[in-house]
Amino acid sequence: MEQILILPGDGIGPEVVEQAIRVLEKVSKLQKFPLSLEEGLIGGASLDRHGVPITEETLQKAKRSRAVLLGAVGGPQWDDLPTDRRPEKALLRIRKELGCFANLRPAKLYGALIDSSPLRPEIVSGVDLLVVRELTGGLYFGEPRGVERRDGIERGVNTLVYTTPEIERVARVAFEAASQRRKKVTSVDKANVLETTALWRRVVTDLHQEYRDVSLHHLYVDNCAMQLIQNPKQFDVILTENLFGDILSDEAAMLTGSIGMLPSASMGGEHAIYEPVHGSAPDIAGQGKANPLATILSVAMLLRYSLRQEGVADTIEKAVEKVLNEGYRTADLARPGAAVVGTAKMGDLVLGHL
Ligand code: NAD
Repeated sequence: MEQILILPGDGIGPEVVEQAIRVLEKVSKLQKFPLSLEEGLIGGASLDRHGVPITEETLQKAKRSRAVLLGAVGGPQWDDLPTDRRPEKALLRIRKELGCFANLRPAKLYGALIDSSPLRPEIVSGVDLLVVRELTGGLYFGEPRGVERRDGIERGVNTLVYTTPEIERVARVAFEAASQRRKKVTSVDKANVLETTALWRRVVTDLHQEYRDVSLHHLYVDNCAMQLIQNPKQFDVILTENLFGDILSDEAAMLTGSIGMLPSASMGGEHAIYEPVHGSAPDIAGQGKANPLATILSVAMLLRYSLRQEGVADTIEKAVEKVLNEGYRTADLARPGAAVVGTAKMGDLVLGHL
């Protein structure tokens, strides 16, 4: 039986995760694939109970699980703690321990939500893209790093470093994902200026030989930033390194106009973590208002990528689409004057379409 570790976390995390678990349990029962769900603490919830943002025991449980479903961490009550005891530290720790080197962030614009996008409908309608971002290398981890003072002048250094295997393994994730989608990878670099990303382009081009059914295109990052606004429909899978991916995935997310809709996956070899893109939203926590759809869509990603249940994942995504087409909205999606449903009701509506 597949083991899934559930880490609801803080703020709205437990509220949205509760609805996602209902969806997971229902599809596992309907489709007859048994799952074993275990819960644990992460972030502020773990700090309050154990004095650390994540315990060794929870990390071991995560390593024994096929996948982790995470809510969100953080909140003002933990903001003044030293960096190594902040709730967010748990996210970096668990990603590193599980070797999650690829971050997958789909940005899909649902037809019913077209008014939420800041761009004109004719530009964004039908946008459905996936950013695959390298997550454990590049400038965020490269050595040497730091700020030093010499002869009265301060000097800051960060290092953009990638090895061939690091590039190849994340590119493989992008090609595999594209072969299950519209079979197009756009690799983003700055190969005209940065040697590291010239290597990136060469390694991705070589690996492409193994994926001849997928088309490969290269874009410089500055051009990609423009193209995402000018003609976002051209993209299927965007593959890029850590810093470029951090920026481009937020830009792509904004096309859809709503943070409450966006799921994500962080994956490595055997393990993967699925979580909504949004944070713990302390401003609305405990009020039953939070949009659970990003977490429900994260469950769809879990089914697709970790459990290979493509059909079930599709069913969940279609259920979400139907609920939106019927006009139901949580507060974050509603236009002024529209009827609004709460977190649990939104969960009921999705369950009703499964
Ligand atoms: P946030 O994403 O929590 O909230 C931003 C805004 O979006 C808020 O107004 C919030 O009410 C709204 N929002 C977010 N998710 C929503 C949902 N599902 N439904 C309806 N509205 C939603 O970002 P923030 O306010 O910058 O951060 C709050 C806390 O979350 C901080 O402690 C931050 O460190 C943490 N955080 C955690 C993660 C994570 O766990 N992965 C990510 C980002 C921020």
